[in-house]
Amino acid sequence: MEANQSFIHLSEKPYIKVALVGNPNCGKSTLFNALTGLHQKTGNFPGVTVDKKIGYSKLNTLVTAEFIDLPGTYSLYPKSIDEQVAFEVLCNPDNENHPDVTIVVADASNLKRNLFLVSQIIDLKIPVILALNMMDLVEKEGVVIDAVRLSERLGVKVVAISARKKEGIEHLKNILLEPLPIPQYDFIDVKKIAPELVEKIRAIIKLNSDFAAFQTISNFSNIQYFDNHPEKKQKLATLFKSVSIDYNSLQTEESVERYKLINRITTECITHRSAIQTESFTHKLDSVLTHRIWGYAIFLIILFFIFQTIFFVAAYPMEWIESLFTSIAGWASQTLPAGELTNLFVNGILAGLSGVVIFVPQIALLFAFIGILEDTGYMTRVSFIMDKLMRRFGLNGRSVIPLISGVACAVPAIMSTRTISSWKERIISIMVTPLMSCSARLPVYTLLISLVVPSAKTSGFFNYQGLILMSLYLIGFIAAITAAWVMKWILKAREKSYFIMELPVYRTPQWRTVGLTIYDKVKIFLWDAGKIIVAISVILWFLSSHAPGNKFQDIENKYQSSILTKDHSIEGVALQSKIASEKLEASYAGILGKFIEPAIAPLGFDWKIGIALVTSFAAREVFVGTMATIYSAGSTDNTQSIRDKMHAEVDEQTGLPKFTMAVGFSLLIFYAFAMQCVSTLAVVYRETKSWKWPVIQFTYMSVLAYVSSFIVYHLLK
Ligand code: GDP
Repeated sequence: MEANQSFIHLSEKPYIKVALVGNPNCGKSTLFNALTGLHQKTGNFPGVTVDKKIGYSKLNTLVTAEFIDLPGTYSLYPKSIDEQVAFEVLCNPDNENHPDVTIVVADASNLKRNLFLVSQIIDLKIPVILALNMMDLVEKEGVVIDAVRLSERLGVKVVAISARKKEGIEHLKNILLEPLPIPQYDFIDVKKIAPELVEKIRAIIKLNSDFAAFQTISNFSNIQYFDNHPEKKQKLATLFKSVSIDYNSLQTEESVERYKLINRITTECITHRSAIQTESFTHKLDSVLTHRIWGYAIFLIILFFIFQTIFFVAAYPMEWIESLFTSIAGWASQTLPAGELTNLFVNGILAGLSGVVIFVPQIALLFAFIGILEDTGYMTRVSFIMDKLMRRFGLNGRSVIPLISGVACAVPAIMSTRTISSWKERIISIMVTPLMSCSARLPVYTLLISLVVPSAKTSGFFNYQGLILMSLYLIGFIAAITAAWVMKWILKAREKSYFIMELPVYRTPQWRTVGLTIYDKVKIFLWDAGKIIVAISVILWFLSSHAPGNKFQDIENKYQSSILTKDHSIEGVALQSKIASEKLEASYAGILGKFIEPAIAPLGFDWKIGIALVTSFAAREVFVGTMATIYSAGSTDNTQSIRDKMHAEVDEQTGLPKFTMAVGFSLLIFYAFAMQCVSTLAVVYRETKSWKWPVIQFTYMSVLAYVSSFIVYHLLK
């Protein structure tokens, strides 16, 4: 466009940084994967919870490129966190991720809309290459894009690619090594829109372009660059106070101007060979999948299928993992020298690890489904049909998946809230998801229900136990949406969320993308949540296997003598379990159980249940195991099931059965609401990057659990 263009020559540098930006769904991740393969690592942008993906690729024998995948964004107004990150990285030369060159990925089959962001980035006057992606679709649709002309009009290099078919990737890499023009002109002259202001801003901060200056007007208090330059921030604040700016109308004016120019460019560069719309397939499918009735019905059927699979298919690998760990534990306790270290390894570390790895099949399966649904374009439809309903409760269409996934496990469910772009709606989804009854609650529910609910059938069809189980799931769901509704009023929104309704065309899923999604999520879970789970398990192990003073020794001595005096009434395994249970009582965990007894007595719980509450703090399903250990006490009959043992338990004070209906339901409701899952808390910490949210979550769920249990116990007593 302009004659006196300057160029940068990246082929002279051994290591160059390349940023990828583009609208959501433009195929940026596909391109990133095609460029870097498995040479990727994930991290976070400093100070925010936005994921950062970095990958590497050798451009030739001398030059290595580092590709950074910036969050998908429609524009560059630094309003949402994602856009701030993109803005910050591109505009702040001091930013550690500031690129040498930026590849703007555009969905060429939707060029007009994509050019908006392209034009904004060009206006930043940083070196840019435009990658026209999805050229295969463009061709199919009978559209011709004149790339040479487009390149002339935009003043940047334009490369036509199809990331999915891996076409044009090498060409793109080669272009990186050619001299690249730095855009010299203003696509939009923002000085016309805000004449003096732009000058004044540029006098305060050194920026490459008028447009970058213009962009600092909105939300400048969140721009990280100013954290290190408080005096400039102060000056800007004073400047903005002194003039009255209606940023929104400035922004509207800018958008209008931009679209005018974009329209002109697209008319020049795009020609339709035929008017045949290949989208008709998509339209036909959408008339069913987003139908007022069929849309929901089909979604329910798909959900049903997914959950059947997650529950039943995952059960097999979960069993294998469990038996693998059991045999490793068995092997270790037999081969390793008996002692504290072996004990720590087997009952602390190994137990903790198995608690982490056991979730991997469910996480992998869930994300396989989510990956497929996302990649085909169906997920956007689900969010679309559910959005209106969810919004009433402070959630949005995209909260459906985390909520539903929460029935399997809150950990992957919370990880799947990433797609929710509004901060408020995402936090609310994270906060309420653990109220959905997860699969770890199932063993607790089944044990307690079988203990206090008769297995008789109602009118010959429904079974009471099944009804109660279903009600517990329903209660979880109602609690979740009620909590969301309450939080909607409490939380202040930092940003307004718009549900950008753009339904992409349906595509067959790309297995590589799905595979990488699974790999990514499992890795994050194993490393990030895993560390914390193992650490807590070790602490719990210590608490339940150590006692103050010589208490353990005393117990062993006591039984040593009973064996010596040939007391045959207690033998073998029974003796072992009696010793184990007495030790548990004497241990720190037992002391803790007794210590909290006064606090839990109003809920109908004694210190034995207290121990189970303490040990199952790390993971709910531990409850059953702990109960088994505790109630093995004093019983000589090992054929008796844990259920029967608990059934036979007598209240020391009243002489009546301990596990009455009131105690049973009180416990059930407690487990339905209480936040007893270290993995979830760890993931919430990871996702929100602060302890504030896990602490609030833990507190509100515990209070809810306590109060509900109290009410239930006293109503039924
Ligand atoms: P992102 O949101 O920008 O990261 O987009 P993705 O990389 O996840 O791609 C969105 C969808 O577009 C996926 O279904 C991809 O398989 C598909 N896609 C990506 N590149 C191409 C392409 O060149 N041609 C076609 N037909 N589809 C593509």
